[in-house]
Amino acid sequence: MDLYSGYINKLIEELAGLPGIGAKSAQRLAFHIINLPKERVERFASTMIEAKNNVRYCGRCFTLTDQEICPICANAKRDQKTIMVVENTRDLAAYEKTGKFDGVYHVLHGAISPMLGMGPNDIKLKELMQRLQGDVEEVIIATNSSLEGETTAMYISKLIKPTGVKVTRIASGVPVGGDLEYIDEVTLLRALEGRVEL
Ligand code: ZN
Repeated sequence: MDLYSGYINKLIEELAGLPGIGAKSAQRLAFHIINLPKERVERFASTMIEAKNNVRYCGRCFTLTDQEICPICANAKRDQKTIMVVENTRDLAAYEKTGKFDGVYHVLHGAISPMLGMGPNDIKLKELMQRLQGDVEEVIIATNSSLEGETTAMYISKLIKPTGVKVTRIASGVPVGGDLEYIDEVTLLRALEGRVEL
């Protein structure tokens, strides 16, 4: 016998499918939503749909944006010849918050992970190589210092080396396994300034 209405069960199921939400949290959130005023719920639902409908990948760096080309790529003051490669848009935001990097980015949307079945073709690597056919002086690899991040960095550097473009890796002052987005700005800047050529 179902303890709750089928509608609530369905809501709990959807919420439990979100990252970091366990069965208990999903239940708590479902009841919270049910108890919200109708307008709040409608606004929440339409905000999700609007975001989904309007946000896409930048045509150049693949970060999330609601424009054809994101504001960073479109900014003539940014150094388009220096590309920092990051795993996701959150990592880009972490570096952007330091306000000290004036190059542009390339967002891979993942990292190579044989264990998770993620290969080079599952991330935006081909797209990075295409960008290197333009005028690029340096590629700074800022993937995480996790096993996947290091594997990805090695793979990319081997791919880029023959093209003659300078490849550097941010310094490993970054704690092993640490997600870039959780690291403070000083550490990020130190990692960037201490980058080494691969
Ligand atoms: Zn962009």
